[in-house]
Amino acid sequence: MAKIIMKTPLVEMDGDEMTRIIWKMIKDILILPYIDLKSEYYDLGLEYREKTGDQVTIDSAMATKKYGVAVKCATITPNAERVKEYNLTQMWKSPNGTIRAILDGTVFRAPILVDSIKPFVKSWVKPITIARHAYGDVYKNVEYRVPEAGKAELVFTNEKGEETRQTIFDFKGPGIIQGQHNIDKSIESFARSCFNYALDQKQDVWFATKDTISKQYDHRFKDIFQEIYDKEYDAKFKEAGIEYFYTLIDDAVARVVRSEGGFIWACKNYDGDVMSDMVATAFGSLAMMTSVLVSPEGYYEYEAAHGTVQRHYYQHLEGKETSTNSMATLFAWTGALRKRGELDGIKELVEYADKMDKASIQTIESGIMTKDLAMLSELKDIKTVNTEQFLLEVKKTFDAM
Ligand code: NAD
Repeated sequence: MAKIIMKTPLVEMDGDEMTRIIWKMIKDILILPYIDLKSEYYDLGLEYREKTGDQVTIDSAMATKKYGVAVKCATITPNAERVKEYNLTQMWKSPNGTIRAILDGTVFRAPILVDSIKPFVKSWVKPITIARHAYGDVYKNVEYRVPEAGKAELVFTNEKGEETRQTIFDFKGPGIIQGQHNIDKSIESFARSCFNYALDQKQDVWFATKDTISKQYDHRFKDIFQEIYDKEYDAKFKEAGIEYFYTLIDDAVARVVRSEGGFIWACKNYDGDVMSDMVATAFGSLAMMTSVLVSPEGYYEYEAAHGTVQRHYYQHLEGKETSTNSMATLFAWTGALRKRGELDGIKELVEYADKMDKASIQTIESGIMTKDLAMLSELKDIKTVNTEQFLLEVKKTFDAM
């Protein structure tokens, strides 16, 4: 069979440890035999980031702006231990943070569902996608430990030097204060990313804040979403048969738990941090979470939500067998290839991606899976396989389809 020809290159961002091993296996076993892969390769492995003074990360983000679609392998975010382990000259920043800052995007996380692994919430039959606003609030706060009695004030000075002043609290003794901010431009980008992604996925958007209590701060989020929706998206949503729905965060949580899933839940930064772990755990496994960064200009960067699976990598280095789940990394590849196919009008590429997703899910549903899933599956007859065997089994299913 002739290989599928691509038009525009995919930006390929390689990474670290076990996911780097999986990366190559996925390409060799499931992609290169079927696709004449056109990619612009960037090595974001920690050694090469060190060698280039992290310039490679910036270059890969700029390439994503140029071509529109990227696929990224999990990467190490260095801490003190990693600085020693890799003999680094600096504690390089998180590549995801650097890329997100350049693309100004929103991260959407959705679980891959398989029949035999039931979500802890029984009513959830469709995936819930969490969209987390990745700027500001408590993550860029200023805090102060009040040591003694005194007055805390909120002061804003404009460029002309005029002041606005409000009392936060008259302290009679020690306490704590915190200053948070956000900016309209970032909230607007977040809203547009969510609405664009909803149109892309043909799913409703839910958004929630605590605007009844936070009458300026949270209310601004609510107003910006509504203004942008009314002006730019109302007609498009009606045409697509989807809805934008706003409610209070406590009501949203109650409704989400009772829902059947199948929507995008837009969350403020902190809510998204907490809720994405809740949703991931309730759906079963971090190894089955996909993640895509969508910029308001329409650039896409696909990846797995999990890290580099360090423990498995050390086993691998010792020559021991590993059973690492490659589903989320495979879905990052198929997600990126599908999007490339859609943008370039290559029907075969879209069909390939759909079929590969189905083949991998079908393989698991037939009882063949990695160790992490075997522990969660309700199937009686399970064949636990190693990292490479799983991909070879997916290939068998794919070829038979
Ligand atoms: P991790 O996601 O690699 O592992 C967390 C736990 O989940 C481990 O117990 C691991 O065994 C298990 N797990 C995760 N993915 C799995 C898979 N595919 N198959 C089987 N089990 C899986 O996170 P961590 O251990 O906290 O971090 C390891 C490294 O990854 C760190 O250096 C961190 O900086 C990096 N990291 C990168 C990203 C990213 O690039 N997006 C995200 C998170 C962590």
